Amino acid sequence: MRIVDIIEKKKNGGELTPDEISFFIEGYTSGKIPDYQAAAPCMAICLVGMTQEETAALTHSMAYSGETADLSGIQGTVTDKHSTGGVGDTTTLITAPIAAACGVKVAKMSGRGLGHTGGTIDKLESIPGFKTELGIETFRELVNKNSIAITGQSEKFALADKKLYALRDVTGTIDSIPLIASSIMSKKIAAGAKSIVLDVKTGSGAFMKDTEQAFDLAKAMCEIGTRSGLATVAVVTNMDEPLGSFIGNALEVKEAILCLSGEDTSEGLMEVSELLACHMLLASKTEVDFEEAKAKVEKALNSGAALEKLRVLIKSQGGDERVIDDVSLLGKAESVIEIYSETQGYIQKVDARMIGTAVQLLGAGRADKNDIIDKSVGAIIHKRTGDRIQKGERLGELHVNDKTNLNKAMDLFKRAFVIGEVAEKPKLVLGTVTDGKEERYD
Ligand code: URA
Ligand code: CA
Repeated sequence: MRIVDIIEKKKNGGELTPDEISFFIEGYTSGKIPDYQAAAPCMAICLVGMTQEETAALTHSMAYSGETADLSGIQGTVTDKHSTGGVGDTTTLITAPIAAACGVKVAKMSGRGLGHTGGTIDKLESIPGFKTELGIETFRELVNKNSIAITGQSEKFALADKKLYALRDVTGTIDSIPLIASSIMSKKIAAGAKSIVLDVKTGSGAFMKDTEQAFDLAKAMCEIGTRSGLATVAVVTNMDEPLGSFIGNALEVKEAILCLSGEDTSEGLMEVSELLACHMLLASKTEVDFEEAKAKVEKALNSGAALEKLRVLIKSQGGDERVIDDVSLLGKAESVIEIYSETQGYIQKVDARMIGTAVQLLGAGRADKNDIIDKSVGAIIHKRTGDRIQKGERLGELHVNDKTNLNKAMDLFKRAFVIGEVAEKPKLVLGTVTDGKEERYD
């Protein structure tokens, strides 16, 4: 087999066989195929697309190109949850404890933030003492014992994806549904869960700016899951405005604690977190009926059982669990700068990407993957799309340490709020994909 023939075949619209795909992936991972030859099939896939069979074969080759986690020692259906990324997306810290309190075995492998989006591992590290690098043995033990553990995703999983992602990033080949779907699902398959609930974001703060594409991505990932024997459900949710009201690492942990304590700091964040938890109960077969799953989720919240699960998670991973009762232990930024509205009217838009970038400029996020982040800085938004605002009323606040980029951050934060004469509340949950069937909500 020769890589040049595979490139030609894909360029001409042909369908690659599993052997051809594995020849490409193995050759590239081992270094036998150079970057310039690997970039060509990626571009051809962007332009021509892939069949479901090809996408499944690509995912499989990438999933087994590095180490895989063996979670078979865990009793019960191990369930994971994955979000395609956004701003103020604190759902994992709320959904995982709820699902665990309802009896789901939550074995969550998470990543760090990059660019304007946050990552669960960075957020958890704002809890004093919290360890995010668990060995596989400890990870399995904790899931068996407590029904919940969260660890950083091993660098050794899906090696082909790591290399290909870096190549796609510099060759204009990120935005292809089969390439994105196989990239995400290969890491999930390597991580060893038996069922997974995906939160596919759409809108200005998301990868997929367009709703139709978000549904296509959701369907592609569910199809891969089904073909790999992984029970997969996807929800498609709006990421035009930040999901939670607190953005930044320690601030997001604080919001999760407040939400699990029954303080509704953000209706939307709770709506999505509870929905994802319901689907985790269904995907793991802990419940078979949606309404019953919902009742169980409500009960875990109202009884305080979900908050107690978060406490157990923090304590068993070495963190200071007193943060649950005293969120000030999470640390505070030196100054809080209030941002006021210069006009009156209705909020038409709170641009998630601009807010995410403002918070990144304050030091909460990374431009480069080796950047060091400041856990205590960030922002809180007080107004949302559809809300009325008076001149001089507070739009939000910035939590600041280093003031180097403060003016830029303030300007972006202010401009993120578009104020006009009329506005509507946006729809948050757009639909679900279950068993390959799509259901849209109006
Ligand atoms: N996230 C991933 O892990 N891979 C992609 O290709 C895009 C988003
Ligand atoms: Ca509620």
